[in-house]
Amino acid sequence: MIKTDILIIGAGPTGLFTVFEAGLLKLKCHLIDALPQTGGQCSEIYPKKPIYDIPAFPEILAGTLVDNLMEQIKPFEAGYTLGERAETLDKQEDGSFIVTTNKGTQHQAPVVVIAGGLGSFEPRKPLIPNIIDFEDKGVNYFIKDPEVYRDKKVVIAGGGDSALDWAIFLADVASEVSLVHRRNEFRGALDSVEKASELAKLGKIKLFTEAEVIGIAGDGNVEAVTIKHNDAEKGETILPVDNFIPLFGLSPKLGPIGDWGLEIEKNAIKVNNAKDYQTNIPGVFAIGDVNTYEGKLKLILSGFHEAAVMCQFAYQIINPGKRYVMKYTTVGGVEGFDGSKKVAKKEVVQSIS
Ligand SMILES: Cc1cc2nc3c(=O)[nH]c(=O)nc-3n(C[C@H](O)[C@H](O)[C@H](O)COP(=O)(O)OP(=O)(O)OC[C@H]3O[C@@H](n4cnc5c(N)ncnc54)[C@H](O)[C@@H]3O)c2cc1C
Repeated sequence: MIKTDILIIGAGPTGLFTVFEAGLLKLKCHLIDALPQTGGQCSEIYPKKPIYDIPAFPEILAGTLVDNLMEQIKPFEAGYTLGERAETLDKQEDGSFIVTTNKGTQHQAPVVVIAGGLGSFEPRKPLIPNIIDFEDKGVNYFIKDPEVYRDKKVVIAGGGDSALDWAIFLADVASEVSLVHRRNEFRGALDSVEKASELAKLGKIKLFTEAEVIGIAGDGNVEAVTIKHNDAEKGETILPVDNFIPLFGLSPKLGPIGDWGLEIEKNAIKVNNAKDYQTNIPGVFAIGDVNTYEGKLKLILSGFHEAAVMCQFAYQIINPGKRYVMKYTTVGGVEGFDGSKKVAKKEVVQSIS
């Protein structure tokens, strides 16, 4: 049995930053994640994409953000159960919880924090009968490393931000980029739509609108796709390609968490955002993309804020009756469980007389 103060389900940016905020309060954390690595969506879906709305980082790659968070939480020596999905939550007589994973690992803590983001990652797949035979053999539902597509012929399908952004990005990496979308209008940000049209005019992206990929052919790996045009006169186009990347989004699936008796609304967990981000089960909090409340913004910075607030209340559950006075890190420093200590040097005030 792994015992800790705060058990965090989900090691995305929100779960990772919770370790830091809890560490400032001298609370130990353990993280469970179904994925084999930390970082959630940032590591799994878009590690090489720049993010522009992390305060004080005008631009940072999603993968670098995760590396930095891992560095920031290192002194707090969190425990990790990676590659295992949290399956069950059982309340004990002493008020603590036992969370068991699909591999039978048991964890016990007085506080459970669900930072499960979108839940288990399930990409929406196109209805092409043999697509499964080509998965990871030219068919990918996420782009982890764009270098994989250097000098390759790539066809991307989809009409949202991901499809547009990657088509634009890969136009400078791949030898040929085709973008296939069922409609004439794209759902992405206006500047991305404009940029993609501009690149199409320059011949850097081949645009196939009112069309869809209906077939994949290849001897082992993808060698060609069949594109069917809505206009019957155009019929079908067979396009020789090395890679087919359908980017139709992720279908959010809460997975086993949905059966824990939590109040769920639109696939997300309802929380008390006026106070502490606690769920309808006292002692169980939900923060980051996984929660919902009026005005919720599914952004990394929202998860960071929610983690800071939630930890103050977790402290009171773990240390009943004990008062904690919040200190700025510039004043209190950062004292890790590993013996490390960072403190601001005393200011030397020189007076001129
Ligand atoms: C392409 C793209 C671009 C984006 N760009 C931006 C941007 O520019 N700025 C911004 O602020 N946000 C952006 N986002 C959104 C941002 O990534 C999310 O808001 C953020 O990842 C949420 O963090 P999280 O830790 O709450 O959840 P996640 O990152 O989703 O992590 C949740 C983790 O929980 C795990 N998990 C779920 N259920 C279980 C279970 N039962 N057992 C074990 N583990 C479980 C999952 O495996 C996952 O690793 C973008 C998202 C995408 C997809």
